[in-house]
Amino acid sequence: MSDTPDSAVRTYTEQHRTAFLDDLAAWLRIPSVSAQPVHDGDVRRSAEWLSAKLGETGFPVTEIWETPGAPAVFAHWPSDDPDAPTVLVYGHHDVQPAAREDGWDTEPFEPVIRDGRMYGRGAADDKGQVFFHTLGVRAHLATTGRTAPAVNLKLLIEGEEESGSPNFRALVEERADRLAADAVIVSDTGMWDESTPTVCTGMRGLAECEIELYGPEQDIHSGSFGGAVPNPATAVARLVAALHDADGRVAIPGFYDGVAELTDTERALFAELPFDEATWLRTAKSRAASGETGYSTLERVWARPTAEVNGIGGGYQGAGSKTIIPSSALVKISFRLVAGQEPDRIQQVVRAWAEAQVPAGVGHRITFSPATRPCLTPLDHPALQAVARAMGRAFGRKILFTREGGSGPAADLQDVLGAPVLFLGISVPSDGWHAPNEKVELDLLFKGVETTAHLWGELAAALR
Ligand SMILES: [Zn+2]
Repeated sequence: MSDTPDSAVRTYTEQHRTAFLDDLAAWLRIPSVSAQPVHDGDVRRSAEWLSAKLGETGFPVTEIWETPGAPAVFAHWPSDDPDAPTVLVYGHHDVQPAAREDGWDTEPFEPVIRDGRMYGRGAADDKGQVFFHTLGVRAHLATTGRTAPAVNLKLLIEGEEESGSPNFRALVEERADRLAADAVIVSDTGMWDESTPTVCTGMRGLAECEIELYGPEQDIHSGSFGGAVPNPATAVARLVAALHDADGRVAIPGFYDGVAELTDTERALFAELPFDEATWLRTAKSRAASGETGYSTLERVWARPTAEVNGIGGGYQGAGSKTIIPSSALVKISFRLVAGQEPDRIQQVVRAWAEAQVPAGVGHRITFSPATRPCLTPLDHPALQAVARAMGRAFGRKILFTREGGSGPAADLQDVLGAPVLFLGISVPSDGWHAPNEKVELDLLFKGVETTAHLWGELAAALR
């Protein structure tokens, strides 16, 4: 083997493979489910575990940061180069709920390695992708002879991402001086597929609402009263039917105001990706693609805003029949937002639209969950190019660009810290985020280690 920096990183990574995987498995055994109060203690235990592990890794500063909800972990490893730029890595240590009976082949919080993959809740989203930074920074030091990273390296690993990060923005505002950075690396996304490494340039935002409609004060007899009073379940169905037009566009007035349209360059770059709709549909576990007319599937998922019904209900849903007019009915709707859409404004137009749909004699209650803003970094930004170079050295391939259809609190970091946000992820669509049998591909996990081993030198040069 030739002794290039890249092969030295690979060798170092391979030498530490077993210990790294044992540590990751130990972390995955902590069921840090932020959405379920019964796991509050586990979320705290997860933060403490990570903080201790980052200390072992060599970070001179590791702290648990309390919030009104779940704790976050902060770590700082200053560079010994006085001119070094500062980079903040963002990730989360909480996970989605998971239970064996949801369809898992093995216990979700008993990680197992099978066929070159580690299965377990959080393996990809996001513990695996946080954890590759520990071995990555060790490989960076070991192969460059440094005693401190080439950048001032900070980590902020929050504990409420899977619950919508309700306290994250306040935490970042409160600690903005400690978090100050020249660039933010978000380590909570994925790449195109196992053989097509990509860098993500942005994420969609998210606004969520619940609309509950009220009819009679209680369920009433459909024979005695049916046909003569308004039915809230029918009203909810009409509201849902009015959500999209025949072209699959969201029919809420003002919804598309300010939307950043795709450029021809971005559309051409997306089209370079080896997209196969049949394969994609298998990952989507769906029978057909559908959506807004005039856009490809990738464009729909990455660069177009959406409205999706997440749940709908009301009235009798037990066995057999029950002849009633239900007292109430509800629908839960989520909106994915793209650059140019402000959640506050979206909530206003959704509320105005929904209220206009409610028929006379029907009461309503519309509630919004905390929203997440969209985020986008230009393709030609030097820091984005540095990420692509680091990834190219790890993978030995040309790096293409994608976006992420999901949402995260990255835009808060961008707004508060005034730093560009870059997305680095090695997860692939088949990893099963939020689904049963979540896994991470071990080969890719170690490419993540190698990428971060190269990244600090590349970013130090690009941001100087
Ligand atoms: Zn995540």
